[in-house]
This record gives sequence, C-alpha cells and structure tokens, in this order.
Amino acid sequence: MSLALTLPPQPVGPLLPPQQAPKPHRNFKFSDANFFLLAEATLFMVHSGMLRRCKMFSNMFGLPQTDNAKKQEDGYTRERPLFIPQVLAVELDVVLNFVYFEWPGPDFTVLGFLRLLALSDRFGIPTARDYALRSLNDLSIPPILRVEYGLLCEVEGWPEQGFMELMLKPLHDIADCDAHCASPDLLLAIVKARSQVDLLRRQTFVQIPDVPHAPTCSLGTRELCTATWRNAWCTGLCRLYLNPGEYAPVPEITDKLNAAAVANMDPACLRAVKDAIVRDKVLTRELELYDTELVKVRALTRTPRLYTPALPAPLFHSTPAGDDDMIETE
Ligand SMILES: [Zn+2]
Repeated sequence: MSLALTLPPQPVGPLLPPQQAPKPHRNFKFSDANFFLLAEATLFMVHSGMLRRCKMFSNMFGLPQTDNAKKQEDGYTRERPLFIPQVLAVELDVVLNFVYFEWPGPDFTVLGFLRLLALSDRFGIPTARDYALRSLNDLSIPPILRVEYGLLCEVEGWPEQGFMELMLKPLHDIADCDAHCASPDLLLAIVKARSQVDLLRRQTFVQIPDVPHAPTCSLGTRELCTATWRNAWCTGLCRLYLNPGEYAPVPEITDKLNAAAVANMDPACLRAVKDAIVRDKVLTRELELYDTELVKVRALTRTPRLYTPALPAPLFHSTPAGDDDMIETE
C-alpha cells in the first residue's frame, strides 16, 4: 500500500492534544513502560532510559524533581501522556525507531529525509541527522526545500545553493507540493528577489553600455562603431544572458564577454567597452543583489518558523511491510 494513496494532505501534527481517547501504537507499547508520549491520537508507551538518548528528553529528565512532582507532570502516567505538538504519529514512530534501534527507517522520499533532518534537530538525535544528510547527498533536492530546510536545520551551503538555483531557473518549475512544504514568508522573499533579478537583466539588455569610441577607430564614425557594438550586445551576449529557459550565471556571462569578438569592430574600442562594463559593474551588480537578498532570506530564521504547515507529499516510497498501523493518524 502506498502512502501517497493513503495519506491525504494534512497539517503536520496538531497543535493541541486530541479530543478522542488515544490508541496505543502497534509496536511502541511496552508493558514495562515508564513514560508515555502522545502524537496526534497515538499513544507511545516507552522507557525514559531510552528517551534519554534524545537530547530533548535528557534535558527534560535532567531537571531535579521529586517523585511526587513527577506524578503531576505529563508523561509519567498512561492517563496523562506527554503530548508532542506538530509531529505526526508516523514521524514519532521514526524518531523512536532511531532512539531504540538506530534503525535507518523505511524507504524515505526526499521529503521524508528532510522531515527526518528537522525531527533529528528538534529531538536532538545526531545519528539521525547524519543519516538524513548522508542520504540526501545522493538525492536531488528541490531548490525551494533546500533553502527552507537548510535554514531550518542549519545545513552549511544549502541556503546559498538553493537560492542560486531559484534565481536562474524559471520559478514556475517549483512543484506545487514543494511550494506547500516551504514557509510562505520564504516563498515571498524568493519571488521578490527573483523579480529584482529579472528586472536587472532586462535593464541590462535595454540600457546598452556606451562605447568609449577611440579616435583611431577603424570604423571611422562613432555612430557606425556604436551600431556595430549594439548589434553584437543584443544579438550575441544578451541572447545567452536572457535565455528564457535558464539564465546563464554571472561568471559564465563574464567569461563570454571577455572572450567575445565583434566582427568589424576596432579592437581598441571593443577593449574599452569591455573595460567599462567591468568598471561600471554592469554584469556583476547582480552578485551584489544576490548578497542583499540572501541576507533578507537568512533573516527569516530569526522569527519562529512553524514546521511544514502541510504535508502534501508522502514521506516514504512504500509502507514498511506489515506496519500498516504506522500510517494511522487517528
Ligand atoms: Zn570605435
């Protein structure tokens, strides 16, 4: 049975405990359990000694408490389990499998690995983080999710890499299901940044750099020299620069400019216009724009970010055999 067919789009874990009575999880219902967790409406009956392997729980258990005080706290009795907000039962199952068995889990999708990465940070399980990052190395991560989870989970290089891909490829290539997994404020920041890049590239096409025409120019008149250059700029370099399929990156365009030869144009005039383009940062001002916009994107992490507000894609390629209960969300 495929999760894609059985798991409809839904919020990632409720914010509040369920109204209905919880149902024990199929596997994590140990008879000698001494700690009780609730994700959605699924009860996990586990051991505090094992949970200590998670930094989140070891910090919690590390607080000095008398036995009487513990009885008042959620988690210590089956009747009062500790509700974990914003996590699916299927996700807590994965977390507990890592805690108990360091089990690498079922066949995760890219989104599944990204969620595992976020959960490993939230619960404090370094082995799960390592496993998720190692596995994602070999997979193609949609750029919007690379930025989102790179910021959320502080993965070095991810925000920059994803951001650059989004600045060069058409934004309508972002799949709906990936967009739904990214924060709205991130999407807005990306759209605004990309709009500025589009504007800059169009301006560069329209506002053709002037030729610093040399008196010794073989073409004679400034008009003829300028017309020759304009033609080369619009039909040569800018065709690549404004390629509607995928923008050429700035370094590639700069290399093309350096290597560009213009038939009939005087070498001294061509050299002078190339130097002027570099001096006036006609092409490289885009790099400064990237830096400015990336600062804005990074600033988004300073506000509390909800975990993925909706889960429109499956976490696993297939349900682990015989574990159909894992996907139950009620
Ligand atoms: Zn000239």
